[in-house]
Amino acid sequence: MTTAAAGADDFRDALIRHGLLIPMGVDGLYGRSGVFEDVVERFNALVTAAGQRDRAEVMRFPPALNRRHFEESGYLESFPQLAGTVHSFTGGEADHRALLKRVAAGEDWTAGQTATGVVMTPAACYPIYPTLAARGPLPAEGALVDVYSYCFRHEPSLDPARMQLFRMREYVRIGTPEQVTAFRSDWLERGEALMRSLGVPVTVDLANDPFFGRAGRMLAANQRDQGLKFELLIPITSADKPTACLSFNYHQDHFGLAWDLRTADGDLAHSACVGFGLERVALALFRHLGFDPQGWPAPVRSVLWG
Ligand code: ATP
Ligand code: ZN
Ligand code: MG
Repeated sequence: MTTAAAGADDFRDALIRHGLLIPMGVDGLYGRSGVFEDVVERFNALVTAAGQRDRAEVMRFPPALNRRHFEESGYLESFPQLAGTVHSFTGGEADHRALLKRVAAGEDWTAGQTATGVVMTPAACYPIYPTLAARGPLPAEGALVDVYSYCFRHEPSLDPARMQLFRMREYVRIGTPEQVTAFRSDWLERGEALMRSLGVPVTVDLANDPFFGRAGRMLAANQRDQGLKFELLIPITSADKPTACLSFNYHQDHFGLAWDLRTADGDLAHSACVGFGLERVALALFRHLGFDPQGWPAPVRSVLWG
């Protein structure tokens, strides 16, 4: 593994050769084998077990948002480069004939598509804030939600750990600043212990999101200075640039403000989430323990399969 790029290529080739990832002809878009899915499902169950005692409210959404909620979230201000919008054909018969002609000629046929009310989910927790806001002020104990969704990000890459469609499991705490920061520091410890039990090398570090443009550089620096984002990193395709497999984010009142989500005392709600990247965790396990889970060390097998 000399450079990040070479490491990513070799590992990607090996994953495909072992049938774990099924290439679909688009960078960052893959099918998954039964073996890969079994690892994802077992890890997801481990996350469920780790959070069981907290009795989070389970919510499951399709991998798409209400476009209005997406606009209100502020995502387009910060990450326009990652967003995926869903468009559809809404023309008449003449438009249809013109469309087919363009497809047959290999010309761009997409310009005539019109936006639907649906946008791809960029992070699993996005749909819960407008959902909670619609219920009115939070109870005094705040809220704790368990979400799990496929997410889309337009970041095509040959690095198998950077997919365009991947799954994110999250626990999300919404309430007072004290409630949500306590939740985050608790999960920083629990997340690290969980990953260490799987026999992979982990580090935890301060991080920032890829905010767009020049103003974005300021936002990223500010996010770091305030310690708003931490990542649990595991080397997957590069030893010097380990990959973020879990994220611990404190959003302050960003989402509270977006949807006027209030605490029981009437203050703007704060929020924090711990996100588990399920494909990345599976890839980290394949990278460090081997391509065949049957051959993984017994202690790790027993953590995952009981
Ligand atoms: P990175 O810095 O590598 O781009 P991120 O900071 O964008 O990661 P988050 O936005 O915090 O990641 O997303 C939560 C989790 O989702 C990450 O910890 C990671 O495990 C996973 N994740 C993020 N982007 C991808 C991707 N493109 N492919 C697969 N998993 C991803
Ligand atoms: Zn989140
Ligand atoms: Mg990213």
